Amino acid sequence: MKPKQLMRTIFTHAILVSGLPALTRLLLWRDRVAVLLYHDPDPATLDSHLAYLKRNCDFVPMSEVNKPGKGRRRAALTFDDGHVGNAALLPIFIKHGVRPTIYICSSIVAHERTHWWLTPGAQHAGVKRLIKLPNSQRLEELARRGFQQDVRSDEAPVSGLSREQIEAMLPYVDFQSHTRFHPTLTRLDDQECIDELAQSKREVEQLTGSPCEHFAYPYGRYGSREVAMLKATGYKTGRTTAVGWNDERSDPFRLSAFDIEDDSSLPWFAAQMTGVPLAWRLLPLGTVKSILIRTLNFARLGKPQTNAG
Ligand SMILES: [Zn+2]
Repeated sequence: MKPKQLMRTIFTHAILVSGLPALTRLLLWRDRVAVLLYHDPDPATLDSHLAYLKRNCDFVPMSEVNKPGKGRRRAALTFDDGHVGNAALLPIFIKHGVRPTIYICSSIVAHERTHWWLTPGAQHAGVKRLIKLPNSQRLEELARRGFQQDVRSDEAPVSGLSREQIEAMLPYVDFQSHTRFHPTLTRLDDQECIDELAQSKREVEQLTGSPCEHFAYPYGRYGSREVAMLKATGYKTGRTTAVGWNDERSDPFRLSAFDIEDDSSLPWFAAQMTGVPLAWRLLPLGTVKSILIRTLNFARLGKPQTNAG
C-alpha cells in the first residue's frame, strides 16, 4: 500500500471509530443541506454512496438549498463539467429518486470538444500551473501544444455530454452553468468574465429550454468581482468548493459543498461527509503532512512487501 493510501486508511478508520459521523450529523448537519460535488464517478460507486445517504437524509434539488429545513437532514447532488460519463448515471438517479444538478461547460458539451485539462498538451504542461496563469497566456500555451478550445482535438477524445444525452436526461436532471470553456474566472479580464457568465447562461437555456439561474465556480475560485458579475448577469446562486452545510442564512452566491473524490470507497465517503478530510485538505499544513507521509513511508520500507498494489 502506498504511503498516501495508508495515511488515508488510518485517517478513515480514526474518523469512523471516533464517532465523528454521528456527531457531525447531530450537531452540524442537523436539517441543513449538504451539497455533494462530484465530477465523473462510475455508476456502482455513486450507487453505494446514494444508498448510504438515503439512510441518513432526504434528497433535495439545488433550488431548496436556501430554504429552511423541517427537522430532517438534507443533501443535494451536483456534478461539475458535464463529463460524458455522467450519462451512465441516469439509472442511478432514477433508482434513488434524486434530481441532481449538472453544471455544464456550455461550449464543450453538445460540441464534440474536450475539456482542456484532459488533453495531452495540458497534462504535459502541468494543469495545476496552467490554472494559475492569466487566461490569454494559458490559451497561448495550449495553442503552442496544438489545442484550441473551440476546435475538436485530434489527440484527445470528446469529453462532454452530447446534445442527445442531455436531451435524454432532461426529465431527471437540472442542467446549469459552469462557464463556457472552464477558465479560472479570477484570471480573466472584466469583459472575458462577463462573456463567460452571460454567454454560458444563454447557451444552457438554448440547450435545455429552461431558465439557467445556478452557477458553479470553476476550481472554486472567485472573488467579490465574480459575485457582482453573477448577480448582474441574472444568476440566483453560486456554488463554491468551500466545505460546509447550507441553510436559509447562507449567502446564495457563496454556497458550500462537499467535494467528494469520485472513486471514494464507502468508508472514505462516510469520512468525507464529516467535513474533516476536506478541512484538512485546505489547511496550510504542508510540512506536517509531508512529515507524516515520510514517516509512514519509512515504516513501510521496514516491512517485507506482500503484494504489488
Ligand atoms: Zn469544473
